[in-house]
Amino acid sequence: MQRLLTGRGIIAAASLALAFSAGEALAASDDEKATARAIYQELVEIRTVEGRAGTTVQAAEAMAARLVAAGFPADDVKVLSHAPGYGALVARYRGDGRSGKKPILLMAHLDVVDALREDWSRDPFTFIEEDGWFYGRGTSDNKAGAAALVATFLRLKAEGFMPGRDLIIALTGDEETGGNSIKWLVNENRDLLDADFALNSDGGGGGRRDGKPVVYSIQASEKVYLTYIAQIRNAGGHSSVPQTDNAIYRLAAALGRLSAHRFPTMTNEITRAYFAGVAEMKGDADMAAVGGGDTGAAADRLSADPYYNAMLRTTCVATRLAAGHADNALPQLAQATINCRILPGTDPDSIDTALTGILADDGIELTRDAEPTLSPPSPLREDVMAALRGAVDARYPGLPILPGMSTGATDGLYVRNVGIPTYGVAGVFRDLEDIRAHGRDERVRVEDFYATLDHWHTLLTTLAGD
Ligand SMILES: [Zn+2]
Repeated sequence: MQRLLTGRGIIAAASLALAFSAGEALAASDDEKATARAIYQELVEIRTVEGRAGTTVQAAEAMAARLVAAGFPADDVKVLSHAPGYGALVARYRGDGRSGKKPILLMAHLDVVDALREDWSRDPFTFIEEDGWFYGRGTSDNKAGAAALVATFLRLKAEGFMPGRDLIIALTGDEETGGNSIKWLVNENRDLLDADFALNSDGGGGGRRDGKPVVYSIQASEKVYLTYIAQIRNAGGHSSVPQTDNAIYRLAAALGRLSAHRFPTMTNEITRAYFAGVAEMKGDADMAAVGGGDTGAAADRLSADPYYNAMLRTTCVATRLAAGHADNALPQLAQATINCRILPGTDPDSIDTALTGILADDGIELTRDAEPTLSPPSPLREDVMAALRGAVDARYPGLPILPGMSTGATDGLYVRNVGIPTYGVAGVFRDLEDIRAHGRDERVRVEDFYATLDHWHTLLTTLAGD
């Protein structure tokens, strides 16, 4: 989207193309592909799931061994644990510092959501290539990313590439469950991975429809996660003598008020750029208005769609309910879990106040389940956007690039929280009508996996080549 690039950005992208035509080897060789495939297979076949202690340590050690064997000094390749049984890898590719710039952090996670043999049409932890696809748990989320980052370090090292700034890979151990691995790394080991900005292989990426590429999305923002517990207590009594004051009815009525409530529509730099980009692709007037900052009627109409609604508003929804203790007793406790996804830039304290007002029952005790981690949107930097434009154009010239705000959460949340701008720039393309991450028969196209090697090669040689 031209809208995303200033005049200087366009010039930067053009000079980038010149640099490549001046002899940069773009396509990975057969040997490099074979190495990357072996790394990918090795990762997929280690069942790195919550509850199987030591498996992420095993995966981190396997990647460390490959880097050290390729000539990275052992001191620059560290396997770390934030807690017993959890492993993470932090590997530094030292530059000569000629650019005077701080390092670039490269992110992926080693853990996966578990998968059961009986739910799949094949063994989820056997890496299988079939009919042009790689199958296995984690093939898309996020082991293609982890494998491509490690393979790219090996490739750049073999080519004798000397970065002008350090590059740091961080592979974390519990993205799917706690996020404690990245939280511990950025808060307790900041010196190991402090960076100018971070590129996350676990966000963004290409989208296909009917097998054809239609869009590339860069994840530059995430909503903030905050869960509340709402409780109402009552003296209870015998159910043969109902009272007018009933904990279940009061909580149900309060949740009814919540279901009818809409938080105000808001936009930020990232969501405006997203809607403006989609407006250009679809020629949609409401999208164009919201892309221009309109939060009125156009935003209200768009929010009839649940996904656009989540992009435009803070949402709070009841996700669990528990009440009563016996079939023949009046309830002494009724409790609901309310999960909020807060737009970045909104003060969570204001959501406490808003929820209290919406539930509108002073018998309800509202508490936060855990403290939220704030995640400011990362500004759309010209250098990152231009490098990404180059990487996408090398494969699909002119494919629209849209900035995105995730309505869910990744490790990127914790990196943004400590002040490091973070961009989800996955190399893989997904079939938008058939997303299988966390689901059955997860897969990635064989050609797409190999293309990620060139994607990361272009990004890193561009951003660390001066
Ligand atoms: Zn993931």
